Amino acid sequence: MSYTCFYCRKEVPDELRGKKIRCPYCGNKVLIKERGVTTKVSAR
Ligand SMILES: [Zn+2]
Repeated sequence: MSYTCFYCRKEVPDELRGKKIRCPYCGNKVLIKERGVTTKVSAR
């Protein structure tokens, strides 16, 4: 499960995030959980 920064939209992996919920790139504390969004394509 990786997080995405709400502001800079970069992926923040667990090892970079550490114990602090914080974006290492821009330093904001708003991270959103990345969902595994799969688009359904009906193959016929
Ligand atoms: Zn950020």
